[in-house]
Amino acid sequence: MHELSIAKNIVEIIKESVEENDLRSIERVVLKVGELSGVVPDSLQFSLEAISTGTELESAKYEMKRIPFTIKCKVCGNVSDNELGIVKCPVCGSKDTEVVSGNELLISEIILKN
Ligand SMILES: [Zn+2]
Repeated sequence: MHELSIAKNIVEIIKESVEENDLRSIERVVLKVGELSGVVPDSLQFSLEAISTGTELESAKYEMKRIPFTIKCKVCGNVSDNELGIVKCPVCGSKDTEVVSGNELLISEIILKN
């Protein structure tokens, strides 16, 4: 299962980033999931919760933020949200574009309890 191995990696990163490994102090973890990342947010959420149950991370909440697919035109510089698979600039029609966002899968924030 794709999302399960990703979830395991995410938990590893969380463990490494939290000082003194006090995982019980984590309230919320915010993840950015790009529309092109191939990750199904619901499956990832389920996998993270399944992995966390019965561990120090049990009380942590996971929040997914969808990151839209956006491109930047190398000709006119326009940045636009785009439908999946369409990489044509809506302003000048150029196909000389680069993907700005939509591929990412990141831990955006780890929020600790007060
Ligand atoms: Zn353009």
